[in-house]
Amino acid sequence: MIDNQLPITKLRWFRRQLKAWACGHLRNFPWRRTKDAYAILVAEFLLQKTNADTVAPVYQRFMERYPTLNALAAAREEDVTMLLRPLGLSFRADRLRQSTQLILKNYQGKIPKTEAQLLKLPGVGKYTARSICAHAFGQRKAVLDTNVARIFERFFGLSGGRVKWRSQELQSAVEEAAPTTNVGMWNLTLLDFGAAVCTARHPRCGECPLQEQCQYARESNIDEKIINKPIYM
Ligand code: SF4
Repeated sequence: MIDNQLPITKLRWFRRQLKAWACGHLRNFPWRRTKDAYAILVAEFLLQKTNADTVAPVYQRFMERYPTLNALAAAREEDVTMLLRPLGLSFRADRLRQSTQLILKNYQGKIPKTEAQLLKLPGVGKYTARSICAHAFGQRKAVLDTNVARIFERFFGLSGGRVKWRSQELQSAVEEAAPTTNVGMWNLTLLDFGAAVCTARHPRCGECPLQEQCQYARESNIDEKIINKPIYM
């Protein structure tokens, strides 16, 4: 990690504004109200490339049917596949079951607590591993996806290139920006803020609490003034 990449005063302001925004704006999903590592692991698998609103009813049914790791490991493959069918990505059911069986075999049925161990499970990538570490185990593991990348690129004027999650500059920035406590909540704040305010198309800069110090908003404003400048003065 590159130390002190971000201007400290601006970074502190960024954190304060976003934490204040989170009060009253965070979306409420069942997997966000638990610290149970198995429940969080299931949610992270279901949320891969899938909208949270679509996942919510399937997740409820899934947890009622397979409330524990043992129950899932003993499940018939076709039953799990059928239950997850509405979400698409059929390989997800296989990988989830394979992961639970590996956890039973190698970790005595306890969800592993380190990013490196989690990354060895089928279907678990960096985002999923870090999200589980932060949310279930309270570790300071910030996540980077396209939503988070967009906020950092716009607000701090960074450039992560085409494949955001591979950008060392962005990875360093999100790690540096993460608060020392409650990083699970911080990750959720960034995700929800990117979905509700700093959206990919038509970001809602006019009502954004970050606008005052946002690089993108400042440049857009300058562009707008140039475009709207009267030709005859
Ligand atoms: S001001 Fe606009 S571009 Fe900047 S963080 Fe807010 S919504 Fe995103």
